[in-house]
Parts: sequence; C-alpha cells; structure tokens
Amino acid sequence: LNRRLSEFGTTIFAEMSALAVRTGAINLGQGFPDTDGPEEVREAAVRALRDGRGNQYPPGPGIPELREAVAAHQAHWYGHLGLSYDPEREVLITAGATEAIAAALLALVEPGDEVIALEPYYDSYAASIAMAGGTRVPVTLRPRAAEAESEAESEAEPDADSGGGGGAYRLDLDELRDAVTDRTRLILLNTPHNPTGTVLTRDELAAIAELCVERDLLAVTDEVYEHLVFEGAHLPLASFPGMRERTVTIGSAGKTFSFTGWKVGWVTAAPELVTAVRSAKQYLTYVSAGPFQYAVAEALRLPDSYFTGLRDDLRAKRDLLAKGLTAAGFTVFRPAGTYFITTDIRPLGAGSGIDFCLALPERCGVVAVPTQVFYDHQSEGAPFVRFAFCKRADVLEEAAARLAGLT
Ligand code: PMP
Ligand code: GLN
Repeated sequence: LNRRLSEFGTTIFAEMSALAVRTGAINLGQGFPDTDGPEEVREAAVRALRDGRGNQYPPGPGIPELREAVAAHQAHWYGHLGLSYDPEREVLITAGATEAIAAALLALVEPGDEVIALEPYYDSYAASIAMAGGTRVPVTLRPRAAEAESEAESEAEPDADSGGGGGAYRLDLDELRDAVTDRTRLILLNTPHNPTGTVLTRDELAAIAELCVERDLLAVTDEVYEHLVFEGAHLPLASFPGMRERTVTIGSAGKTFSFTGWKVGWVTAAPELVTAVRSAKQYLTYVSAGPFQYAVAEALRLPDSYFTGLRDDLRAKRDLLAKGLTAAGFTVFRPAGTYFITTDIRPLGAGSGIDFCLALPERCGVVAVPTQVFYDHQSEGAPFVRFAFCKRADVLEEAAARLAGLT
C-alpha cells in the first residue's frame, strides 16, 4: 500500500457488518435499510434488464433519461430557491456518491492543496482527499449538550426555524474561517451530516457561502440525505449567493430510494465543474450500471408523497430509537436529519466508543459504530457511538430492549 493510503485499513462499515454477521447481533452499525425501496422502482430495473436497456455501456455522462430526471428533481425541489440545472451540460451520473466525491477531489485538488472538511466525517472523505494528494483540514462539529456541560452555556435547543433544521451539533464559524489559508482549495461539506445528524442552518450555510466567495474557494457538497430532514428544510449550498458557479453538489439514489446496492449517484454543477469531474470519472469507472439508471430515472419522478412518506417513516423511527437509547442511559444527540443517531456513552460509565462497540455484540447483541474513527482529533470523538435507525420498527424495538439490559 502506498504512503497516501497506508493509514486507511478496512472501512469501519465493513468491519462492523462483519462483526454483526459473526455474532448474529442486530446491525445498527452500517447505514443501510433492511427493507428495499419501492416495488415499482425495482420493477423498472427488471423491465430495463429484460428489454435490453442499459445492458451495454451507457453514455459516459449517464443516460439522458436519468440526467433529465435529476435536473427535473432539482428544479422541482429547489426551483423556488432559484436553483436549476441543464441536463445536457450540468449533470453527471456516477457510481454512487462515493465515486462522485472521489472524482470531484481527484479533478479539483492539486497535490498539496488543503481541503477543509467538517469532522467527524464520512470515512471516504479522508481517503479521497489523500488519493488526490490533498491535505485534509478538519473543523470539528461539537455537541451542544456536551458544550453546555463543559462551558455552562445554555444553548441546548436546536434552532429549528432558521431554514435548515439545526441539530444537536454546532459548527464553530470562527474556527472554520481560521482554517482557511492560502493553500485552501475547497470546502468539502455534508448536510444533512453523517454521522451527527446535524442539518446546517440557513445562517451557517450563508456564512460558509460568504467565506467561499470571499476567499475564492470551491465547494463540494454531499447532500445524499437531502430528503431525510425531520425539522426545517434542506437548503442546497449551491442556492446561496455566488455559490452556483463554484459548487459541486452530490446526490445518491442509495439513500433516497433505499437501494444502497445499486450505486447510482449524481453530480450537479456548472458546466466547467461537471466537465472536470467527468474527466476523472471516465478513468475510474467510465460509466455506472445501465439498467439501474433507467430505474432511478423513474424513481426521481415519484410523487412528493413518496419523499415525504420516507421522511415521516424515518422520523418516527428516529423517535423510537432515541427513546430506547435514552431509557438505556445514553445521552442522545437528537438528529435533525439522516438516519443516524449519535450518542455519548459516558453516562453508562464507558469512555472509549471503540472498546464499547467491540464489546457490545457480546454484551447485548447489538452492533453500533464508534464515531471516533471519523475524527482526526481522536480525543474529540472518543465517547461517541452512532446507531443507524433505517431498520424495521420491530428490529429497533428489539435493539432498544437489548440495550436496556446494559445498566
Ligand atoms: N456520503 C455520505 C454522507 C454517506 O453517508 C454515504 C452513504 N454511506 C455516501 C456518501 C455514499 O453514498 P453511495 O452509496 O451513493 O456511494
Ligand atoms: N453510508 C453508510 C454509513 O455511513 C455506509 C456506507 C458504506 O458502507 N460505505 O453507514
């Protein structure tokens, strides 16, 4: 393994899912739904396969039907914010959001450039920055409750009505500003944010946008959980003044349609940025699986009730698991979005999330993910553990019952 990748072993998700299989524990670690997405979307994939649509290499930028559906989806959900994209020149289909992130960084970062990312971050960010030869500069999101404890601040309530949903974690804008140097090339953002469940507020996004414009930075924004916002609304960074021309926005069918195995993602951006990302993408995968593109094109045109139904279902599951975790003694940082809950394990007398998660299947038959592995500043993340709630209600209830036995 070369020097750029030597610090990255097996991903935590593969490791924890293997642990779940080995021990037969309930897997609330890796974020994937235990129920597949809509039947009609699956049928659309079967039809495409059977009709021979997409069984040979689809066009490099993605099939026109899907690029049009991505553009129509953006216009439908964000047109009122002034955001729309040309399907011909401003949309690129990728092999999941993961490839979009890697291709964007490979295309836009020069070796030695600094890339700012919000810590804790989704694990592929660090590896993709490294593969691009960039230097990652983490800016830490901190739980409000922990802050209130340590600094006696009385700021525990999420600012639910300021556009974005807010949440239990706070971005320190001064820290973000201080992180920008002459070497900073771009900010790699994620909202709604995995693993914290935070949804950046309108004010936070506006400040980030101003900073990007003022310091002439690009933004790569991972918005794969755009439809999983339980309080407030998702606001695309690209909709802020001065951002459309400097922002690469990333989406994924895996999250929105509960088909994580299909690996269909997309990029929307100004033509020069799409062309740049495409240059890298061409030599990573060239294209992604054809029949699934036809199916996702249909999925993106599902009625609004599908999207709001998914959100409402997951909001109820969030509440169910949050209640169980609270009853079991965890401090719960209530997420405003995504399908993850982050907890603090210190009330349970534990300090290391890694040790806690390794022992948890033996102790009570549940698998979770230590969020410490998503931090550069390891000590910031040591006592936090993430649980996924994209599971059937009976599974979440059983997990809660098992966790209740911890104390
Ligand atoms: N970004 C974030 C924040 C994610 O949580 C995930 C899913 N694990 C991805 C990107 C990857 O998405 P995909 O499966 O489409 O590659
Ligand atoms: N995005 C999912 C998570 O955060 C899993 C992704 C993966 O396994 N690479 O759990």
